[in-house]
Amino acid sequence: MKNRKILLSENEIPEKWYNIIADMPNKPLPPLHPGTLEPIGPEALAPLFPMELIKQEVTTDKWVDIPDEVRNIYSLWRPTPLYRAYGLEKALDTPAKIYYKYEGVSPSGSHKPNTAVAQAYYNKQEGVKTITTETGAGQWGSALAFACNHFGIKCEVYMVKLSYDHKPYRKTMMNTWGAKVFPSPSEATAIGRKILAENPNTTGSLGIAISEAVERAASDEHTKYALGSVLNHVKLHQTIVGQEALKQLEKAGDLPDIVIAPFGGGSNFAGLAFPFLRLNFEQGKNIRCIASEPSSCPKLTRGEFRYDFGDTGGMTPLLPMYTLGHTFVPAPIHAGGLRYHGAGVIVSQLLRDQLIEAVAHDNLEVFEAGVIFAKAEGIIPAPEATHGIATVINEAQKCKEEGVSRTILFNLCGHGNFDMKAYEDYFSGKIQKHELSDAEIKASLAQLTTPTI
Ligand SMILES: *Cc1c(COP(=O)(O)O)cnc(C)c1O
Repeated sequence: MKNRKILLSENEIPEKWYNIIADMPNKPLPPLHPGTLEPIGPEALAPLFPMELIKQEVTTDKWVDIPDEVRNIYSLWRPTPLYRAYGLEKALDTPAKIYYKYEGVSPSGSHKPNTAVAQAYYNKQEGVKTITTETGAGQWGSALAFACNHFGIKCEVYMVKLSYDHKPYRKTMMNTWGAKVFPSPSEATAIGRKILAENPNTTGSLGIAISEAVERAASDEHTKYALGSVLNHVKLHQTIVGQEALKQLEKAGDLPDIVIAPFGGGSNFAGLAFPFLRLNFEQGKNIRCIASEPSSCPKLTRGEFRYDFGDTGGMTPLLPMYTLGHTFVPAPIHAGGLRYHGAGVIVSQLLRDQLIEAVAHDNLEVFEAGVIFAKAEGIIPAPEATHGIATVINEAQKCKEEGVSRTILFNLCGHGNFDMKAYEDYFSGKIQKHELSDAEIKASLAQLTTPTI
C-alpha cells in the first residue's frame, strides 16, 4: 500500500512558535498613530488586546514557548495529517510530487483555532470577560466561539452580512458554542448605524465588521478584541502548521521546492510558509513560497505598498502593507475569508523584499480547481483553499510541460462542508469571471490620505 498519510504522535506537537521577524533582513516598519503620524508603542494596543499578546506582537525573540494548556487543547485535533496527493497527481498526470497539510480536521474546520485557542488562553489569564471579533466566511467566528467556550469567556461576533445570509449554519455553529452573532453592519455600534444609514443594502465587508468589533471592545474595560489574521501574533501562532509539516516531510524523506497557501490576511500562508522560509534564511535553501489571492481582491499582486488602516472606519493604527485602500469593498465572491483589503505587515515586507511570491486567480478558475481536487482526493475544500489549489495545478502543469519533478506542498486550510451554497452556485452557472479594472483600483487608492512609503 502507498503511504498516503504521514502522521505525528501527540507528543510531537511543537513546543514553540517560530517568529520570523528574528530572521528577516529588513524588519517591518513601525505602526503609526493616525493623528500624529508618529510611530506608536505597544501600549497603544492595550485597550484592545491582553498584554501577553501585545508582547508577542512586537517581540524579536526567535522562538516563543507554547503554554502547556494550549498544547493540551491543540491535542484535540493536532498534529494534523499531511497527505501525499496521489489522486491529484494522477488526475493532473504530472511528474510533480504533491503534498497537502490538512487543517480541516479542527473542531471548526480550518486552521483558525490554532490562534483562537492561544488568544482566548492569554485573555483568560488576564481576566477578560468578553471577546469581540469580526468574521468573514464564519471560519474565524466559529474558531473563536469554540475557544472562548473552552475558557468560559463570552464571545460577540460581527459577521459580514453577505456571509450571514449565505452561511446560516456557520452562525448556528457559533451559537452552539455559546457566541452571540450580529450581521454586519449592525445597529449595535455607531459605525454600523452610520454605514447602514448611508447604504442600507450593503453586503458588508471585513473592514466594516472589524470597525464594529473594535468599537465595542474600546468602549468596555472588561471586553477585548481578537483578530483572526493579519497581526504578527496571529501569524506566530499559525507557525505550528509549517513546523509539523516540516517534521512530516522529513519522515517522508522529502523537502518542498514550492510551498503554496491561499491568502486573506496572511495567517495560514505564514503558518505553513514561515518555517520553510526559516530554512532559506538559515541554510541558504531556495524554497519558493507563493501566496494565492482572488483576482477580485488582489492586494498583493495589484495593490500599493503604503501605510493604511486595518479597518474601514479608520480606527486602527496605520500599518505598512500592501493594500487596495481601506474603503475598498470587494465583489461578493464566496471565498469570504479572502475579501480583505490589505495584507499583514510581515508578509507585505517579505513580498516587497521579493522573498515570497504572489499570484491571483479568477473566481471561476478556483471552483474548477476545487472540484478537480474533491474528485481526486475526496475532501471538498473551502472556497478559500481552492485558490491555493489553483496555484498547485498551474505549478504541476509547468512541471509536466518542462518534464521535471518538483515537490509541492500546500495548505488545505479548511474543508468546504459549510460552503455548499458556493458549490451549488458554481454548478448552476451563477459564478462569473470577475476581473477588477485598473480604474477601480486606482479610484479606491486615490481616496487614501495616509502616508506613502
Ligand atoms: C480565514 C481563512 C482564510 C484566509 O485567512 P488567512 O489569514 O489569509 O489565512 C483562508 N482559508 C480559510 C479556510 C479560512 O478560514
